Amino acid sequence: MPTSRAEALDLVRDIPRQPLINGEWVAGGEAIQVVDPATEQNICSVAEAGPEDVDRAVIAARAALDGGEWGRMGGAERGRLLNRAADLLEQSTEAFASVESLDIGKPGFEPRFIDLPQAIDTFRHFAGWADKIHGRSIPTPGYMGRPTVNYTVREPVGVVAAITPWNSPTMIAAWKVAPALAAGCAVVLKPPEDAPLTSLMLMRILLQAGFPEGSVSVLPGRGPVTGQALIDHPGVDKISFTGSPEIGHRVAVAAARGFRRTTLELGGKSPQIVFADADLDAAAQGVAVGIFANQGEVCAAGSRILVAREVHDEFVERLVEQAAGVHVGDPFDEATTMGALINQKQADRVHAYIEAGRSEGAKVAVGGTRPDGPGYFVNPTLFVGADNSMRIAREEIFGPVATIIAFDDDADAVAIANDSDYGLAATLWTSDVTRAHTLASRIRAGSVAVNGWAPIDPRLPWGGSKQSGAGRELGWAGIEANTEEKTISIVL
Ligand code: NAD
Repeated sequence: MPTSRAEALDLVRDIPRQPLINGEWVAGGEAIQVVDPATEQNICSVAEAGPEDVDRAVIAARAALDGGEWGRMGGAERGRLLNRAADLLEQSTEAFASVESLDIGKPGFEPRFIDLPQAIDTFRHFAGWADKIHGRSIPTPGYMGRPTVNYTVREPVGVVAAITPWNSPTMIAAWKVAPALAAGCAVVLKPPEDAPLTSLMLMRILLQAGFPEGSVSVLPGRGPVTGQALIDHPGVDKISFTGSPEIGHRVAVAAARGFRRTTLELGGKSPQIVFADADLDAAAQGVAVGIFANQGEVCAAGSRILVAREVHDEFVERLVEQAAGVHVGDPFDEATTMGALINQKQADRVHAYIEAGRSEGAKVAVGGTRPDGPGYFVNPTLFVGADNSMRIAREEIFGPVATIIAFDDDADAVAIANDSDYGLAATLWTSDVTRAHTLASRIRAGSVAVNGWAPIDPRLPWGGSKQSGAGRELGWAGIEANTEEKTISIVL
């Protein structure tokens, strides 16, 4: 199934590796190197969009809305373009999957079974919304004795800056771009500097699908250069950001000047809670996916595993077996189930957390090592004998490392789960339907899954509370987040 690295490198030659502004691929500035995380070899360079490029892209986006073809286009036609984009993306699944493995280090099956199907589905879902965005009719007692007719319309919020992280760049770009375009906004996408290639491919597809000039732009570049210029630009009406809480805070401060809209999807320290009545085999398998998928570089990674004390040892044994069965290796090798982390810094950071766990007194049940040879690999790692005050239980590691903590009863499980700065997702493993519903409502998180891991689907709202962010994307929430409701009141 995975194409070879050589074939993926061939595909890269054909990708426009520069900014797209007002329908044209432009020169850009400084060359940013893109590295293959599995080999540490350079793949290519991409021309960075500087502050003048950012300015031109935002001005072009505004012009597309104010009198441009895009601003005049109706919802049905926008939906047709989104469906065409979905079809083109589907036809390019293999190319996207290969480049995503090369650029990010994720094993071939993941983009083929998760990222690409999700991205395609997201475009189709929002194609469906594009001609169904309507307002409300609201009766009132009238105005100074005269009757009124009052109604609302939903208008595009304007120019949307979409800033994405490197862990799932195609899927997360789709989550931002598709609802914004369905709502009639113009989008300026700033992809991650560590993995920009599939975002450039995606924007090429949008051009092919027929999105008119200015409606979509892409500005590759570093966060402090391109990203900062974009969030500071007064012509941006909304910033849709997915990334770390630190940069999310920066985005919120920049947006507060001018009270611009934001959607912030930040990190997590999500609990996976295993009760004694759970199907332990299914739970071990599901919990392993929850922490080891995408090398643990997942915002919703279930990195705190809370286990009922009476089944703790038995469950740990099964989970260790799952971890030992993970095959770490080259993403282009069909046997590989876990690839490389994105870069040296991330591998070092994950390893530093493993050392922190050891020095705080937790015990490594499995892993804790790095394979030899080139590439930013870390073996799947589970800590036992930990408590919720340790750094490995409190801070987001963003790697294949989980902390297992025993709990005594339901109240204890909920208290530990909620004792976190984060609130993105949670998973409950239980066969008791009453416990499932009761506890799901007591967990402070944007999503709670029962007997399965984070239910990611374009129809379901996605987002977090506390340090995990503010606002929701996907589903109707994605349309609301990209529109303003305007009230029109007519005195009869
Ligand atoms: P990051 O915050 O470092 O970078 C995210 C994006 O912000 C990148 O495109 C980067 O270039 C840009 N950026 C950096 N500095 C900037 C600045 N000063 N101004 C504007 N933009 C700037 O995050 P990352 O390391 O790419 O991704 C990992 C983080 O993302 C983790 O914390 C993870 O949990 C989070 N994440 C969250 C979700 C979610 O849906 N909640 C999904 C994926 C990743």
